Amino acid sequence: MKNSQDSALRERAARVIPGGMYGHQSTALMPDGFPQFFTKAEGTRITDADGNEYIDYMCAYGPNLFGYNHPDIARAISAQQLKVDAATGPSPLIVDLAEAMVGMVTHADWAMFCKNGGDATMMALMIARAYRGKRKVLVAKKAYHGAMPWNTPRPAGVLPEDRAHLIYFDYNDPQALEDAAKEAGDDLAGIFAAPFRHDTFADQSMPDREYAQAARRIADKYDALLIVDDVRAGFRICRDCSWEAIGVRPDLSAWGKTLGNGQPISALLGNDRARAAASKIFVTGSFWFAAVPMAAALETMRLIRETEYLEHMTMIGESFRQGLASQAADSGFGLRQTGPVTLPMVLFEDDPDFRIGYAFCQAALQRGVYLSPYHNMFMNAAMTCSDIAQTLEATGAAFEDIKRSRASLKPSAALTALADA
Ligand code: PMP
Repeated sequence: MKNSQDSALRERAARVIPGGMYGHQSTALMPDGFPQFFTKAEGTRITDADGNEYIDYMCAYGPNLFGYNHPDIARAISAQQLKVDAATGPSPLIVDLAEAMVGMVTHADWAMFCKNGGDATMMALMIARAYRGKRKVLVAKKAYHGAMPWNTPRPAGVLPEDRAHLIYFDYNDPQALEDAAKEAGDDLAGIFAAPFRHDTFADQSMPDREYAQAARRIADKYDALLIVDDVRAGFRICRDCSWEAIGVRPDLSAWGKTLGNGQPISALLGNDRARAAASKIFVTGSFWFAAVPMAAALETMRLIRETEYLEHMTMIGESFRQGLASQAADSGFGLRQTGPVTLPMVLFEDDPDFRIGYAFCQAALQRGVYLSPYHNMFMNAAMTCSDIAQTLEATGAAFEDIKRSRASLKPSAALTALADA
């Protein structure tokens, strides 16, 4: 596999981009040898700067729902580009899109649009506090809600004061939630809930109905707002808010990623209870009203409503999961595959420092399949049975590779440095 362009770009990046790269693409997190730069994305595939093509199981960390460059969405984008994009005010599409989302998401009576998931979760935090002028917000330990000071996973640049009014609880534990609410008392503003537990470097777990119901009950009891952060899982679990599937309706839900199939747009949806507070806060951004991403989102919503994309992705996800499970068993590895099949997390048994998982993903990458050893992956609706067959051919060989090299595998140096930091 060629990587000379990638290496040259990394060298240049190290001079002009702090740390060479940042966020989830910071060089410390992905295994050595993973490309950093991509020149093309089409359907289920990405091509790196050296021309190597991969079947992509990260889907841009979520946004790619229908395949990169989906023709219907691309057409909607081109048509809108000829009319108006970022201008002095929004286009009529903002009303169409708000109506479309309110029509699809049962708990929602209104919508506000922004750019990133972190914008939407920040707005949720502000609305929860504006609602009754209270301060305390409950957040599950280790849950990711974006990279703002109140939630970024690394400590640099964050003050204890930024988190002074957050109270952490264990996901899926109704008693812990109850205790955290008691601690907040009559200062409880809101409860953040991930639709399911999807932390990095950990097994995923689905919420117990009892826990989700407790979150609703406690929010009502304290006159606080319940927020579901559907930024990552939205529209990969159902065509509605992910907690609709277990019958619990939040006051607010945060959306992003899939909304525009890759165009920059996110949303906060809310019910009438939260409407007055949402009207009071001042939030905006230079690009928040841009019309092109809204045109893409409207077309994405149409495809969500009118196609069997979710059923197809579920079928594809199941065959990926089953294929991996039988290959692992045949080659003597224990795999833990957790969470919904459309957002699969794959971790190895007896792999405390992730050396097996990292080596497995490196071996799959060499054979044209881009997987993550520490983050949940994402299915998209463009994936076909033949993509899965090609993937399983690569992963079958990857299992053989790591079986041979198992005794000599080393932990990732960058990961170890990160854990020590
Ligand atoms: N919430 C969740 C659950 C997420 O997964 C993410 C992004 N991975 C965010 C919020 C933040 O979204 P963004 O990166 O678009 O700001």
